[in-house]
Amino acid sequence: MTQREQLFDLTGRVAIVTGGGRGIGRGISEGLAAFGAKVVMTGRNEATLAEAATEIRAKGGEAIGHAADISSEQDVIALRDAVLARYGRIDVLVNNAGINPIWKNLERTTLDEWQNIIDTNLTGPFLCCKYLGTPMVEQGKGSIINISSVAGNVGLKRSVPYCASKGGVELLTKALALDWAPKGVRVNTIAPGYFETDLTAGVRANDAIAAPLIAHTPLGRFAKLDDIAGAVVFLASDASAYVTGASLAVDGGWTAD
Ligand code: NDP
Repeated sequence: MTQREQLFDLTGRVAIVTGGGRGIGRGISEGLAAFGAKVVMTGRNEATLAEAATEIRAKGGEAIGHAADISSEQDVIALRDAVLARYGRIDVLVNNAGINPIWKNLERTTLDEWQNIIDTNLTGPFLCCKYLGTPMVEQGKGSIINISSVAGNVGLKRSVPYCASKGGVELLTKALALDWAPKGVRVNTIAPGYFETDLTAGVRANDAIAAPLIAHTPLGRFAKLDDIAGAVVFLASDASAYVTGASLAVDGGWTAD
């Protein structure tokens, strides 16, 4: 294998992608599988996971689905046990699952709405790092990639719980990177801009909202699912061996402005 191939090669590495069955997680799963990883996709909907796994296998990749709610400690422990029973190790964890179900002023935001977003977007990555990252610490090697958002670095209007959750993910990443660097486990963040997924369907369908967003994006378009693969393969692989605690913006230049 040439150095060019070796740097990004993930052959034999076991990668877990939360929310891997659709949206950005699907793009991540396909990218990791294309570079040789054995991909375990999680989400709450088994049918979506099964369909995604079948399509990745049809393209020659290795992928399975395992239903789990990442905000449930019990589910995350069961996921860890199932992956270790099948593969005996975990090399890469991508904490991608996330939600953004409301867009409103804080005065009208309920405690339940706040809690739901924090449970999924921040407690979920905490649980997954704890239970799926600890085997990496025991192995002495691994890579964790947390998917935050432009909203983890700048405020968005009418999005207090989402911004708080994603800002939390950014600093969970840096703090854990410090703790686990001596143990060989790297922890980084990817902060996406606006991707064409279900999460942004409402925004993209409303031209009065979509047009200013595109105008504010230096690269002049929403991101396609393929736009995430390069960043995630880089951070998962030995190409990023000296990168930890970093936040990589994949946002078309959105936060450069
Ligand atoms: P989608 O709504 O398209 O997909 C969300 C994924 O997360 C689904 O696979 C869903 O699976 C899974 N999921 C949601 N809640 C849970 C849960 N409790 N347990 C397990 N899985 C769950 O979102 P995107 O692909 O757009 O977003 C992916 C990530 O990227 C999120 O963290 C989001 O905040 C972030 N992001 C997205 C941007 C965008 O423009 N799309 C911009 C910036 C950041 P299921 O429903 O089957 O559980």
